[in-house]
Amino acid sequence: IGTGDWSSDVCSSDLSIIGSTGSIGTQSLEVIEKLQDKFEIIALAGGSNVELLNKQIAKFKPKYVCLGKPDERLDAKGAKTFYGDDGLQEICSNKENDIILVAVSGKIGLKPTLSAIENGIDIALANKETLVMAGDIVMKKAKEAGVKILPVDSEHSAIFQCINGALEKVDRLIITASGGPFLHKSIDEIKKATVEQALAHPRWNMGRKITVDSATLMNKGLEIIEAHHLFDMDYDRIKVVVHPQSYVHSAVEFKDGSIIAQIGVPSMHIPIQYAICYPERPAGIKSRSFSFADVAEFDFLKPDFEKFPCMNLAYEAGRTGGSATTCMNAANEEAVYAFLDGKITLYDIYTTVEKIYRQHKVVQNPDIDEIFAIDKEIRQKTRELFN
Ligand code: NDP
Ligand code: MG
Repeated sequence: IGTGDWSSDVCSSDLSIIGSTGSIGTQSLEVIEKLQDKFEIIALAGGSNVELLNKQIAKFKPKYVCLGKPDERLDAKGAKTFYGDDGLQEICSNKENDIILVAVSGKIGLKPTLSAIENGIDIALANKETLVMAGDIVMKKAKEAGVKILPVDSEHSAIFQCINGALEKVDRLIITASGGPFLHKSIDEIKKATVEQALAHPRWNMGRKITVDSATLMNKGLEIIEAHHLFDMDYDRIKVVVHPQSYVHSAVEFKDGSIIAQIGVPSMHIPIQYAICYPERPAGIKSRSFSFADVAEFDFLKPDFEKFPCMNLAYEAGRTGGSATTCMNAANEEAVYAFLDGKITLYDIYTTVEKIYRQHKVVQNPDIDEIFAIDKEIRQKTRELFN
């Protein structure tokens, strides 16, 4: 798929970005800028960064904008303005969109994603929490509606590219992990880690929540669950390998033993562009080529499940299914915010999530209302632990 033929009438889309002011959102706009007239921006939505949203509005001239809450500094330049969760819903159910890039962080991604699916709008999904909270429901609805869920997460984009439509020939998925800032630290050092250390990721510059998840390796746990849903793959067939240089973005082993990996310079621009241009491969924002000969190190290590127990918990929750991953996700998100607020240590994120998870009575096949109710209840319970 994707011959790279990029004549002006191919693959032009009307697109909205929710979370346009974040790490993925701003990089998406960099991609779109390089593709010039291929995309028309229908809507941009940010949370609280009004200054940046104003700049984006002035440059990309969306028809609609959305902000977390009303703010007199917002300069919408005549665009129709919405606020809060209702605003995100409004934007994501607008059929003027061909595709919506869901780049908000955390639980707020789920409802707008469901709205887009209900309205037959394709989704470029960065927000992995959506699939961890309610992957069964989201994927089922997308299938029924004929909506594409195109992965933005680099590992899943890599796997998507490697599979290239031949899912039935796949034996297993191999997800790479950079290992985060504490890869070579001892458990004691991890226990003493400060917020600043946890936010200093060696390879990727990302939002705060995912950066902390990358430090505990819960991010890899969430990605295992994300891969399970996106590629309908048993957990036994999803493996993780640590690859500190992040050149191999993930790989797929086929039934004949052949492994295909997707390799390149570590950059979110490539998976973002692939998701919104699929199946095309325009040159777009490509800035440099990967040089095998110039790479001094290309290491692969087994993940240390003892030092990073969140990954095991994610495997367990994934295999348990039902509301188990909803619970784990909610407890983790609240624990991450508590760590960022200085209320708990980095390692307490794991102990907190584990404790809440063990108390949870799993509901199998929850409907969406049950998911939201469980999510709310778990968040409350988790926050109570910190007070
Ligand atoms: P950021 O924290 O950088 O960005 C989050 C975005 O969501 C911001 O635009 C923020 O707005 C917006 N937002 C937050 N709260 C609200 C709200 N209540 N209503 C509307 N918008 C809101 O996160 P990232 O870009 O790093 O990550 C986004 C998602 O992508 C996450 O789910 C993450 O796991 C995933 N992802 C990220 C990667 C990366 O490299 N960054 C890689 C792979 C996946 P504002 O800033 O204006 O408040
Ligand atoms: Mg990733």
